Amino acid sequence: ALTAGIVGLPNVGKSTLFNAITQAGAESANYPFCTIDPNVGIVEVPDARLDKLTELVKPKKTIPTAFEFTDIAGIVKGASKGEGLGNQFLSHIRQVDAICHVVRAFQDENITHVSGQVDPISDIETINLELILADLETVSKRMDRVAKMARQKDKEAVAEYDVLSKLKDAFEEEQPARAVDFTDEQLKIVKGLHLLTIKPILYVANVSEDEIGTDADNPQVEKIREYAANENAEVIVICAKIESEIAELDGEEKQEFLDDLGIAESGLDQLIKATYNLLGLATYFTAGEQEVRAWTFTLGMKAPQAAGIIHTDFERGFIRAETVSYKDLVEAGSMGAAREKGKVRLEGKEYPVKDGDVIHFRFNV
Ligand code: GDP
Repeated sequence: ALTAGIVGLPNVGKSTLFNAITQAGAESANYPFCTIDPNVGIVEVPDARLDKLTELVKPKKTIPTAFEFTDIAGIVKGASKGEGLGNQFLSHIRQVDAICHVVRAFQDENITHVSGQVDPISDIETINLELILADLETVSKRMDRVAKMARQKDKEAVAEYDVLSKLKDAFEEEQPARAVDFTDEQLKIVKGLHLLTIKPILYVANVSEDEIGTDADNPQVEKIREYAANENAEVIVICAKIESEIAELDGEEKQEFLDDLGIAESGLDQLIKATYNLLGLATYFTAGEQEVRAWTFTLGMKAPQAAGIIHTDFERGFIRAETVSYKDLVEAGSMGAAREKGKVRLEGKEYPVKDGDVIHFRFNV
C-alpha cells in the first residue's frame, strides 16, 4: 500500500499531529492488510459520497477506505553525512511514496524553537537541503559509473549521463529534483534513481489555536505558500493542538466543535484528502445490501486490477465490471432506476476505472 511520511524539525508539532491521526484512527478490524507498526497511523478517508450511497442503498454496514501515514523520526541536521540516526531518517523517507512536511508557524514562548526563532522558510530549507545533499551523492556516484560508457558513446549511457548532469546542476543550486523539467523518457531514468527530492510533497503549516477559523493573515503562512508555489506544492493550514482535540470527538460532537471554530472541515480531514490526491489515489465504490464500501485504487488502473484490490480471485476470474458513475446513480435514485435509464455500463478488461465509479464485478471462480 502507498504511504505518506510525516517529516519536520523537532518541536514543530509532528507528534501532536501524528497522535491526532492515530486517535482519529480507523477501525483496524476493517483493514487487516494494513501495517501494524507504532509509527504507522491508519486514517479513514472522509468521503461525503459514501454517506449519500448509504442513504440510497441502506446497507447493513458502511466501510470507508483508508490509508497510512508514517511518522518519520530521526535526526535531520547532518543526515546526509550518513551518521546513525540521520541515516535512518533518510532511509525511512526513501520508503514512503509522498512527504508531508510539517512546518511551525505558531508562536509560543514556552516552546523552544530549535534554531531560536520561528522562521518557516529556513526550517523547510534545512530539511530539503539534507535531502538534496543525499540525492547529490546518489547522482554523483552514478555519474562515476556511467561516465566511461557515455564516453564510448553508448546510447543509453549518454542519455542517462545527460539526466544525471541536469540533476547535479539543480542540486548544486539547492533545487529539488521535482523542480526540474524532464521529458517522459528522461523521467523514466529519473525514477530508476530512487531519489528523495522527486517524491511529491505537501507542506503542513502548524498555526496557533487562535488563528483557526479566522481570516487573519499569518505572515509565516504566506511565506510558506510562496515557497510551495515555486515547487507547485500544496499547503494545508492546521493547528495540531486543536486537531488532537477534534480527533477525540465523533459524529455530531465533532460537527458542533467545528461549527464553534467556524470551519467546515477539520485540518486533518483536509490533510487526508490532499495527501490522497498527492499519492495519485482515487476511490471506487461497491454498493450492496450487505455492505456499501469505498475502495482505494491508483488512477490509471484497469478494471481487473482494481477488482484485485477486493480479492485476487476477482482479478484472476474477471469477466466484466457493471459500472455506474456516482453522479448518475444519485440522479437516478436507485440502482434499478439507473439500469432502466441505461446508465449502467458493462465494462471489460481494458476499462480504466474512474474516481466515483460504483462497480459490481462479475467473475468466474
Ligand atoms: P515534534 O517534536 O515535532 O513532534 O513536536 P511536538 O508535537 O512534540 O510538539 C512540540 C511542542 O509544541 C509540544 O509541547 C506541543 O504541545 C506544542 N505544540 C504542537 N502544536 C502546537 C500548536 O498548534 N500550538 C501550540 N501552542 N503548541 C503546539
